[in-house]
Amino acid sequence: MAIDFRTRDFLHPLLLLSLHRRMERNQWASRQERQDYQWGRLASVLRHAANHVPYYRRLFARRGLQPQQLIRARDLSALPLLRKNTLRGRPEALHSRRLSLWPPVRQKTSGSSGEPIDLLMDARANAQEFVYYLRYWGWGGFRLGDSFAQLTTAFFLRPGADIRAPWVWQAHLRRLLINTSQLAPRQVRSMARAMVRHRPSFLKGLPSELYHLGLLLRETGASFPRPRAIFTGGELLSPAIHAALGEIYGCPVLDSYGHMERTVAISHCPAGSYHVHDDYGMLELLHPRPGPDPDTRVARAVGTSLYNRAMPLLRYDTGDDILLYRHPAPCPCGRTFPVVKGILGRSEDIVVTPGGRYLPALFVLPRFTPGVRFLQLLQESPTYLRVLVVPGMAWGEQARENLEAMTRSLVGPHMGIHLELISMEQRIKDPSGKVRTVISRLPPEYLKTPRLPGIAGAGDSGRCS
Ligand SMILES: [Zn+2]
Repeated sequence: MAIDFRTRDFLHPLLLLSLHRRMERNQWASRQERQDYQWGRLASVLRHAANHVPYYRRLFARRGLQPQQLIRARDLSALPLLRKNTLRGRPEALHSRRLSLWPPVRQKTSGSSGEPIDLLMDARANAQEFVYYLRYWGWGGFRLGDSFAQLTTAFFLRPGADIRAPWVWQAHLRRLLINTSQLAPRQVRSMARAMVRHRPSFLKGLPSELYHLGLLLRETGASFPRPRAIFTGGELLSPAIHAALGEIYGCPVLDSYGHMERTVAISHCPAGSYHVHDDYGMLELLHPRPGPDPDTRVARAVGTSLYNRAMPLLRYDTGDDILLYRHPAPCPCGRTFPVVKGILGRSEDIVVTPGGRYLPALFVLPRFTPGVRFLQLLQESPTYLRVLVVPGMAWGEQARENLEAMTRSLVGPHMGIHLELISMEQRIKDPSGKVRTVISRLPPEYLKTPRLPGIAGAGDSGRCS
């Protein structure tokens, strides 16, 4: 999920405007008003799914259900959970038969939890995404037209892009794209000069990308303009990284949780609470169990689309856990959206090249390497990377060459790469049972992992201009 400001976002100005007004109002609305809005949207999506989406037509018929029977959130439990494997195996069954009415845009998940999933999003879902980001970023002070810097590896892996370019400035979007596959001292000086020149008011990226960029800015003594706020997402924001980012950049850090499937959105408000945007998607919290502290619980996040008719997802099992307060209190910011304590999202390691470059976002690799069902990158020494591949249907010589070339372009010429084919059962699991895409067995000093209190691995304090 990303704020992307593509031309298509502006093709429906009236839709954008009315959604924007409505979503701005929703954040202050009473609980009853928000519920009425959510159920109204839900009823519309259910009607469409039951009538025009083959998977749901069959499901409703088999269970003898009418969409109008599902009028409250709790009624949704009459439907089974939708798993990623169903989406992966039979995506067409979830495509609306009325696609020609709303020509959709194709999207792909990152593939860090298995083969990337193809998704269809209609104009309304795209407008909703755009307006959601305006609201969330607005909580950090962003207004349309403000300049910002986006940290990314994926942009530089696209066909036609230069993977070695440290940055790209897009004047029409007022966006500075910073290449996080090039986080080494020389390139970071160039990135800092670009930041001084284009003065992004906001930074957006993975917590680990922003952290390693920040460490290098400090270590090189490069000056950079202090941002007004940082927007993080895409992986777990640990308290240590949160504190480190606040200290390095000297501004508020607003974290968020979401996914390409667009069924759940949660983000930090200016008071530092995680709010569930319940007018974006309907969040169900299943199987609550005790959390790490006595005042917390953990539950599985299951989300339902409230806008997308091209490929509506009902009761979609995100695979992610949410940390809940046992006794949530209203947020001092005054917004009425529900509050949760945190998100137990993706937690990946980084790869460090023999030349000392940090690669925090290698989990995007499966999106660019077709034929791979599942990928694991295992760094066992500073000069050696094992690439473990669970082959998919389209695996073959071409896919192997593509994967090797893509990996080489990222890790550079001096890293030994060894590609191995494995089965799903042979994937490496953490003691907790989690399967990560990037695993590092390097000692902590290589990874510069932050600790609380204080920030281990940080150099002299950075200078902000
Ligand atoms: Zn709040």
